[in-house]
Amino acid sequence: MKFNPAENIQDLQYFGEFGGVNPSISDSSTYTFLSAKTMFDTFEGNADGCYLYSRHSSPSNLYLGEALAALEGTETANVAASGMGAITQVLLQLCKGGDHIVSSRTIYGGTYAFLKNFTPKLNIETTFVDITKLDIVEAAITKNTKVLYCESVSNPLLEVADIKALADLAKKYNLQLVVDNTFSPLLISPAKLGAHVVIHSLTKFINGSSDTLGGVVCGTQEFINNLRNVNDGASMLLGSTMDSLRAASILKNLRTLHIRMTQHSKNAQFLAEKFEADGLKTVYPGLVSHPSHEIFKSMMNTDYGFGGLLTIDVGSLEKANELMELMQLKKIGYLAVSLGFYKTLFSAPGSSTSSEIPKEEQIAMGLSEGLIRFSIGLDNDIERTYNSMKNCMIEVGVLKK
Ligand SMILES: *Cc1c(COP(=O)(O)O)cnc(C)c1O
Repeated sequence: MKFNPAENIQDLQYFGEFGGVNPSISDSSTYTFLSAKTMFDTFEGNADGCYLYSRHSSPSNLYLGEALAALEGTETANVAASGMGAITQVLLQLCKGGDHIVSSRTIYGGTYAFLKNFTPKLNIETTFVDITKLDIVEAAITKNTKVLYCESVSNPLLEVADIKALADLAKKYNLQLVVDNTFSPLLISPAKLGAHVVIHSLTKFINGSSDTLGGVVCGTQEFINNLRNVNDGASMLLGSTMDSLRAASILKNLRTLHIRMTQHSKNAQFLAEKFEADGLKTVYPGLVSHPSHEIFKSMMNTDYGFGGLLTIDVGSLEKANELMELMQLKKIGYLAVSLGFYKTLFSAPGSSTSSEIPKEEQIAMGLSEGLIRFSIGLDNDIERTYNSMKNCMIEVGVLKK
């Protein structure tokens, strides 16, 4: 049966206590009890529907979590204060000293730094691999490997992970497949393809208004319960808790995600085709020339396109900077990191979001200096945007007249 994430979100209804069309916001960090016995049971996790303290859970955070579980088709979900707050709690819950992780080498810079520099302090080692080469992924698995980690569409190179094939590998070696789906909410549903845990930075497309950080872990009830365990749960004990006011505002933005993703994709597809025809080195999963175009197609939920991210390579960092500054001046978008905003955002990942990755490794993975990553906005008239972009490119000499 076809999986319909947008419909699943739409069908969830929560009402406010006075019949409001939005649920009431739980504006409390602590909760009163009529009996001491119920307080004890709640602390032990045995009193369903009771709240104790908002680091454990709060009504607003649970509403948002349930809506995100509906998005990913998982049993439940746990929201966090940021994407990194979600990623770190998952990896620290699944791994202990002596364990090993096999990770894609093209991942978010913060995740890369966490695995490269932080987890080794806890004696958790990571082997970084080209996730599109399944034989290399398999060869990196050792008897200590616990987790296979990747992004469905990678940052910033837009490599596409073959999630079904990776899920088969995970099954064969009894690993947990953890997928960061931040670049492709709605487009790809990793849990439906066999991923055990799906993570998002809500900061990006899902919230979509660049006004807050947020994260989520989507998974089984058992795993989420483990994260929230008062004795050894990484969510509970590391304390990366989202505030209820933010959970309520992100839930409202989630309601329009399908409309936004469709428009981001439509605009990005238009620009990618134009740029490619102009002879620019363009990477976009919706282009037939993309090495993983067919894999993306085989995994995607058909209604939302190939996403809002594309890259072009203009040859050098100087050219990239010159072009980005001019595009900002012409109001095409903003020279800024992050993604999923209504306005186009652009940055040169080699010197910004992926600068945690050493230069030699950047070169090895194909992250060149002149690469510009675009998060294409919700522009109403994308042809007009294209014409202004082209003028900028001609002016800085990236394109000929
Ligand atoms: C931004 C991002 C993160 C980190 O999320 P924060 O909300 O900034 O902590 C993780 N993964 C990907 C793919 C991202 O783009």
